[in-house]
Amino acid sequence: MFDHPREACGLFGGYGIPRIIPVIYQGLFSLQHRGQEGAGIVVSDGTHVRSVKGQGLLSEVFARQDWKQLPGHLGIGHVRYGTTGSTRIQNVQPIVVECIDGVWAIAHNGNLINANTLRQTYQEAGAIFQTSTDSEILIHLLADPRYRSRPGRVAGALSELLGAFAFLIMTRNCVMAARDPMGFKPLCIGRLGEGYVFASETCALNQVGAEYLRDVMPGELVVADETGLHSSLYSDKPPEHGAQCIFEHVYFARPDSSVFGSSVHEVRCQFGARLAQEHPVEADMVIPVPDSGNSAALGYARASGIPLDYGFIRNHYIGRTFIMPEAAKRAGSVDLKLAVLKEVVNGKRVVVVDDSIVRGTTARRRVETLRQAGATAIHMRISCPPTRYPCFFGIDFPTKEELIAGGQDIQETCRFIGADSLGYLSMEGLLAPFANRRDFCTACFNGEYPLDISRVKGKHALENFIPLLNFEQPES
Ligand code: SF4
Repeated sequence: MFDHPREACGLFGGYGIPRIIPVIYQGLFSLQHRGQEGAGIVVSDGTHVRSVKGQGLLSEVFARQDWKQLPGHLGIGHVRYGTTGSTRIQNVQPIVVECIDGVWAIAHNGNLINANTLRQTYQEAGAIFQTSTDSEILIHLLADPRYRSRPGRVAGALSELLGAFAFLIMTRNCVMAARDPMGFKPLCIGRLGEGYVFASETCALNQVGAEYLRDVMPGELVVADETGLHSSLYSDKPPEHGAQCIFEHVYFARPDSSVFGSSVHEVRCQFGARLAQEHPVEADMVIPVPDSGNSAALGYARASGIPLDYGFIRNHYIGRTFIMPEAAKRAGSVDLKLAVLKEVVNGKRVVVVDDSIVRGTTARRRVETLRQAGATAIHMRISCPPTRYPCFFGIDFPTKEELIAGGQDIQETCRFIGADSLGYLSMEGLLAPFANRRDFCTACFNGEYPLDISRVKGKHALENFIPLLNFEQPES
């Protein structure tokens, strides 16, 4: 039972880079926080397309070293957390297919809210699907004769999609990058030597030594090929305003990234400073819940004048496999990820800064642990408003009934987690670092969904069979 929203994938790709595969691996490595269920890379040398993919962390999938030798100067990669489709090898991306006119590969971050309807139409016409993800629908649109016959084939296919997406698309000899017209998901462009790279977050550009050029714009299709970088707007009906996911700044993105034009660390510091103004309290120290609460706690401490200290130490070595249901059960109420520093909090009034409260069970356990360690007062401060509504745009949230703020007010939540006080950042405070720009999605806080979600089905809506075998697809 997770107690945090979960991200829906990270993308990294590039064109014009000799021996690109280690570069993509390195880029994906810094995006591992966006997905740990599976990883894959597809590369091309202009003639052959080769792919490696598997389930688990990047280091597990690429444990063998021979992949490093795969030739190719263009490629795309993906780390997956599945918001549609189960955890199985077929759903690991990039998805690679061979059509009448060559090989296509796609990697997707987001959620397509009309994928069900489109899939049904294609299946009724006889199409066969190889995954249970929403992403695969783009492959079928690309192969659709309506678009095959015209030059704007990729643009035509993209304009059929509704929902949140950042896509990397690859053929034998070019790489394309696209964002949905409302810009839910981040995607940026960098320069590396004579070539170009694309990444979900700028931290991946820094990791490979690329220079940040700009973000892919909402509704833009960028093509990198032997003639350079080309841009066009594929959407002929631009929306009235954007819907960039504000949760990227609250929690998902790494603090050393710049997302939607703003530094994540600086924005989180501002959230914390505002939180100190909105919910001041007398206390001896401010402690962050690491890692995502670090920057906001720093902002709170600076603005309040209360010293910052480390009350929690994070165990960075708990792998995905260790947190198996059995292990979690055995551990009972012990927090496997965070340990309390008793000598720091004992006898102290503490302000605990965290990025969000989802179900409330983790917050309750942490408050309990702090009390056992001797903290005399515990004031929880959350660097976003209460998360009351689920997300349908590629972030895995519990249902509204499972979200503690979905059914309980702030006093009730405070009683449930056992804190002495609880304060959330206001909606105005959340938007303040962006000068109240209107191009953000805030639906999980206020229920104002930027797209009609009345027909959206659940995470496993496209699921019809359970495969038994893992596979590696070395060459196509
Ligand atoms: S609903 Fe929340 S998590 Fe989902 S896209 Fe909007 S802001 Fe992001």
